Order: sequence, then structure tokens, then C-alpha cells
Amino acid sequence: MKSTKKPRTTVTHSLAHLDVLISGASIAGPALALWLARYGARVTVVEKAPALREGGFAVDFRGEAHRTVLRRMGIWDEVHRRQTRMGRQVIVEADGRERVELPAFLMSGDVEIFRGDLSAILYERTRDDVEYVFGDSVATLSEHSDGVDVTFDHGAPRRFDLVVGADGLHSRTRRLAFGNESRHLRFLGYYVAGFGIPNHLGLDRTAQVYSEPGRTVMVSNYDGDPERAGAGLVFASEWLGHDRHDKEAQKRLLAARFADMGWPHAAVVLENLEDADDLYFDAIAQIHVDGLARGRVVLLGDAGYGATMGGIGTGTALVCAYVLAGELAAARGDHRAAFAAYEAEVRDYARGCQRTSGNAGPFLAPPTERRIRSRDRAYRLLASRFLAGFFKRLTERAANGITLKDYGPAEGGPRTARDYASRNRQP
Ligand SMILES: Cc1cc2nc3c(=O)[nH]c(=O)nc-3n(C[C@H](O)[C@H](O)[C@H](O)COP(=O)(O)OP(=O)(O)OC[C@H]3O[C@@H](n4cnc5c(N)ncnc54)[C@H](O)[C@@H]3O)c2cc1C
Repeated sequence: MKSTKKPRTTVTHSLAHLDVLISGASIAGPALALWLARYGARVTVVEKAPALREGGFAVDFRGEAHRTVLRRMGIWDEVHRRQTRMGRQVIVEADGRERVELPAFLMSGDVEIFRGDLSAILYERTRDDVEYVFGDSVATLSEHSDGVDVTFDHGAPRRFDLVVGADGLHSRTRRLAFGNESRHLRFLGYYVAGFGIPNHLGLDRTAQVYSEPGRTVMVSNYDGDPERAGAGLVFASEWLGHDRHDKEAQKRLLAARFADMGWPHAAVVLENLEDADDLYFDAIAQIHVDGLARGRVVLLGDAGYGATMGGIGTGTALVCAYVLAGELAAARGDHRAAFAAYEAEVRDYARGCQRTSGNAGPFLAPPTERRIRSRDRAYRLLASRFLAGFFKRLTERAANGITLKDYGPAEGGPRTARDYASRNRQP
């Protein structure tokens, strides 16, 4: 719920004395890098992928906290310039007849953008002040009283003052510092996949959704590009324990799960899956850790409180990056004080955002025909302006559930490439 407490203003300090390693260059990592560079810290972002990753569905921002952070980051205008403008979404019968229509104002928050476009904006804004290392990954972490010694899969070992795990739901940083994934990942009984396909339905900023018990196919065109559309697949399943790096095996798995659907376009989607080079496939799951920091290592975004679906994880990551950087600056880089304050500020907020996504799987792909019908009835009700307003307020409640401190103007100024070249502390 939106708090009535007054935002507090905090004095911040330069972080020029800090070397920070961030693992993960999607959303949370570059967002934190932006703030830390403004406070003068030397920031290195290591990303496992060989280049900035494209792809992903549209993600949306809603409510005051998201708006405030986008504005303070200075990306408000650009996010709006590159926003998608999704129109209506229609649930169809197998023969293509429209069953339920969901109006646009319900689905897209205040502003909606492709995940890949947002990631690119953040990268563009930080690439001159931050060292990005693509195609590498943290291999080991070893903490000492004055820093963390880090080895990499490929690069030379280095020492950092702090390490931030912003490497997503399956964070390796979390595994290294907090223990095995099985201790922290709560599987919610569903999987989700997304990939680009030709716009064979001729959609224009609209989406069609077709459900059978336990599986749903979605085809959408968000940006009006007449050639391209996005396919989304959601299905109920036992835990698959699949190889997350074997895209071909994932395609086979999806093809088997979605074979013989009544809607003819589902077959076209599957044909295109064979050639997809941007497949995103993951469990719908949540991350629950007992404390977001271990010594000099801290978790941010999906790595610390991920929720896969529900659309709110991206806004949460931006808000929490703002808080983490602000608390570090307020504490003059004292990580113990800063991490404790970060945890206190975001813990309940992140939990609240996770809760909104808990029912995403059964809602998107109801397990029985009866549940499909009752979901559609709920959609029909929500399509009325009155209930839609109520629904919008409900979803905004979680996104707004934090009173943002004003951390004051960032001191320290951005770094230059020469700073990085003259550095590289060896352990
Ligand atoms: C390509 C892609 C597509 C996505 N599509 C969707 C979607 O369609 N729907 C949805 O709800 N969510 C999607 N997400 C997740 C969504 O981006 C996040 O929920 C949210 O934005 C929070 O972002 P994050 O930066 O915390 O984590 P993520 O966006 O998951 O980013 C984690 C980053 O860390 C990198 N990484 C992982 N392991 C390592 C490692 N060992 N070393 C270095 N780097 C590592 C990853 O390559 C990735 O760039 C997608 C994420 C990615 C990367």
C-alpha cells in the first residue's frame, strides 16, 4: 500500500574509494552500475553472455515508486520514446472466435517496454563510465578482511571491495556465497517460454491467447512491426530439472508439451520455434534467501528476490538498485551498515512484489477446463472500467509499497576508461 510517510532525505558521499564487481548485465546490474558510477565508484560488470542479451517479453512500470526511480535515473523520457503500445488482448476459441477481450489499459501498466530495449538503454547510459566484461563469469569468491578475491572462468583473478550478484534467478554468485540453488528456489509448478516469430496472424499491437487445460499459447505484436510477433508459452509441469543451457533440448521439450493443440496457430508457433535463436525458457519460480548479504557479497534483483512472471520484477530491480546504491553512498561505502539498511528498506517490498506473481501460472494456464472458464469470467469482469480501476490499484499497491528515501545529489562523478586501465587490483 502506498505509504503516507514522508520521504527522508539522506546525505550521500562519494564512493570513489570503492571497486565494485557486479555479476549480470541485464536490468538490475546496469541499473546499479549507473548509480554507483554517479557516486564515483569504479564499477566492473561481468556478463556470461558474449554480448548484451536481447529478447524477452515487454515489461511494465506502474505507480509512483517506479516513476520516481525512472525519473531520478534520467531515463524516463527514453523509456517513453521506446515504449510498446499494446492494444487489446483477445482470448480465442480453437476456431479463432473471440471469447473474451481484455482492454489495453488493463495490461500494460503506466509504461511498457521490451526487456531487451530497457537493458540496451541502461547499457548505453553506463558503458563509458563502467567496465563491461562480456563472455565471462565469476568462478570463485574468497573474502578477506579488506576485499573479495575473485577468479573468473576466463579472465585473470582480481580483488574487489564488494561483489553484487545481479545474475538472475539462477545466480552463480548466490550459489557461491549463499549455497546451492535448491535451498533458495521455490518452484511454482509452471514453465514459461518466449521467442520471436513472423507475424503470421497479421496482428497490429494486439495479442491472441489460446488455452487448453494446463497450457497456453500467446501470440502478440507489441510494437506495430508488421513482420514480427512474439510467441509466449506457459505450461503446468512437474519440476523438469532440464539443462538450462541446452536450447535444442528445450525446443524439443516445448514441441512435445504443445503438440496437438486445437488452435491451428499453435502448430505454426511450434514450426517457428525450431529456428528461434532468442528462446527464453525458465521455470516460474521465486527466490527466497535468508538475508540478502554475506559479508561483502550482496544480491540484487531476481538473484535475491526473483519471481519470474507477473511483470513486476523489472520495476522491483530498478527500485532496489536505487536503494542499494543510495545506502552505500549514505554509509560512505561501509558495506555492513549499507547492506543492513538495504535489507531493511527492500525486504518487505520485494516480498510484496513476489506475492503478486504467485498466481501467474494458474491464471495464465489454468489446469482444468472449469478453471479456464472461471478465469475468462474474471477477465470479463475486469474489462469493465470500474473493476479495472480496482485491479489497477491492486497491482500498483505492491509496486508502491516502499517509501523511497531521497539520497540527494550523487557525488563523485563518472569514471573514465583510463581509471580502469590503471587499476586491476591483483589479489
Ligand atoms: C534474455 C532474457 C529474457 C527474459 N525474458 C523474460 C520474460 O519474457 N518474462 C519475464 O517475466 N522475465 C524475463 N526475464 C527476466 C527479467 O529480465 C527479470 O525478471 C527482471 O528484469 C530482473 O532482472 P535481473 O537483472 O535481476 O535478472 P535477469 O534479467 O535474469 O538478468 C540476469 C543476467 O545475468 C546474466 N548471468 C547469469 N548467470 C551469470 C553468470 N554466472 N555470470 C555472469 N552473468 C550471468 C544473465 O545472462 C543475464 O544477463 C528475462 C531475462 C533475460 C536475461
